[in-house]
Amino acid sequence: MSLTKVSNTLAGDVSRRRFLGLAGIGLVAGTLAQVRRAEAKTAKSAAQYQESPNGDKSCDNCRLYLADSGTCRVVEGDISADAYCRFWVG
Ligand code: SF4
Repeated sequence: MSLTKVSNTLAGDVSRRRFLGLAGIGLVAGTLAQVRRAEAKTAKSAAQYQESPNGDKSCDNCRLYLADSGTCRVVEGDISADAYCRFWVG
């Protein structure tokens, strides 16, 4: 193999490795962006949040309510224990 061919082959390997490295970084960044979107909470208006219970259904007895912080796993903002929304889970 000539010196030029060896040089071209090595340059190709470096370029391929660099390309694959950049592609890997892009894949990781894309995955992180998807995770962030998945963690985004729904606005109260979209969840049809209301400050009063719906019969015997309220945030206080919803599985998504986080009583310690007065928040919800899926709806954004402060959440009242007496409130209710369409995502209620019993
Ligand atoms: S999902 Fe709705 S009902 Fe359940 S805790 Fe969150 S805001 Fe309250």
